[in-house]
Amino acid sequence: MHIFTVIFLIMVVITVGIQFWLSLRQAKYVAEHRGEVPKEFADKITLEEHQKAADYTRTKGSFGRFGLLLSTIILILWTLGGGLAWLDSLVRSYELSTLTTGVIVILAFSLISSLLDIPTSIYNTFVIEEKFGFNKSTIGVFFIDMIKGAVLALAIGIPLIMLVLWLMESAGDQWWLYAWAALTGFSILMMWAYPKFIAPIFNKFKPLEEGEVLDKITTLLKRTGFNSDGVFVMDGSKRSSHGNAYFTGFGKTKRIVFFDTLLKHLTPKQVEAVLAHELGHFKHKHVLKGMVVSMTMTLIGFAVLAWLMKQEWFYSALGVQQSSTYMALLLFMLVSPAFTFFIGPMMSRWSRKHEFEADTFAAQQSDSGELINALVSLYKKNAGTLTPDPLYSAFYDSHPPASIRIAHLKQAG
Ligand SMILES: [Zn+2]
Repeated sequence: MHIFTVIFLIMVVITVGIQFWLSLRQAKYVAEHRGEVPKEFADKITLEEHQKAADYTRTKGSFGRFGLLLSTIILILWTLGGGLAWLDSLVRSYELSTLTTGVIVILAFSLISSLLDIPTSIYNTFVIEEKFGFNKSTIGVFFIDMIKGAVLALAIGIPLIMLVLWLMESAGDQWWLYAWAALTGFSILMMWAYPKFIAPIFNKFKPLEEGEVLDKITTLLKRTGFNSDGVFVMDGSKRSSHGNAYFTGFGKTKRIVFFDTLLKHLTPKQVEAVLAHELGHFKHKHVLKGMVVSMTMTLIGFAVLAWLMKQEWFYSALGVQQSSTYMALLLFMLVSPAFTFFIGPMMSRWSRKHEFEADTFAAQQSDSGELINALVSLYKKNAGTLTPDPLYSAFYDSHPPASIRIAHLKQAG
């Protein structure tokens, strides 16, 4: 057995083991705190709501562990199990050009992976979300979404895969720099195109109607000197009763989007406070910082791939006999998560720091009490647990736990 095979297996065992352990810790912690609403929420959240959140968290957790086990088995089958080698020799037998063979292998791999994901996705939407009363989707909407998504993925994915494979084949030793530049250009293009052309394929966007909410938002935008391309309401209720708000685009094309489900459950003052928090992210340039970090990681990733691609052992140690650009790309995408696992908690920590900064901004520009009420209301509506395991939360959560976040907001206000 090649030493890299051993290293890969050890990394898989370590990362999967840690994820299992954290998930079990979370389940245990939430169960232990199920019996009583934490004191600071006692007047806002009923015991019944608290227990629903605990049950929802635990149900999602155990299904998550099942999914983790399944995806680990699939990963091993693709690599050491010979799945990729089989797919490769099958497509190679048609003796097409290297580029065409590569595109077909990658597409076939993506197709098989998506098909394998369908049962878990159906179970998640129509069993788990349904059981807790969040699902608003129908089988019809679900499959139409899937078809639209597949068409879109093909329309965007094929040219992109062709470009990257072509650069890998023919652009010489510096191909990874060109590929990185192309991918970066593409993601900037997407930031512009997504809200305008892609999101409307899946949802309806209507300008927010005149009224107290719009007045409050307009005043807040003026007060904070923020330009936007409009405030929109999205029909999130078509699929789920989970609520959200977000910004898309950049420069002058920034759009503010509220899910209809969010507007339904928050008062105008709470909506203003939520928006002030989102504006805080922009004022602190969190989106831009995030982009710079992800571009840097992509660049490092491509540089590593450029080196690995030339190592014969990279293929043979992972169950692939014949080296090729597309196999290098596929293996890299499949295997790298096992080696970059520990970047996750660092990013979570960084994200929580940003949340505190955005909250401080919201407390200055709006009413921290209203933001607290909005948060509690969202936790209640989304059945988010108020008592996560501290270690689990530190590892995964992009947002600070409710009690810590609210304590910080009280101080900031
Ligand atoms: Zn935030």
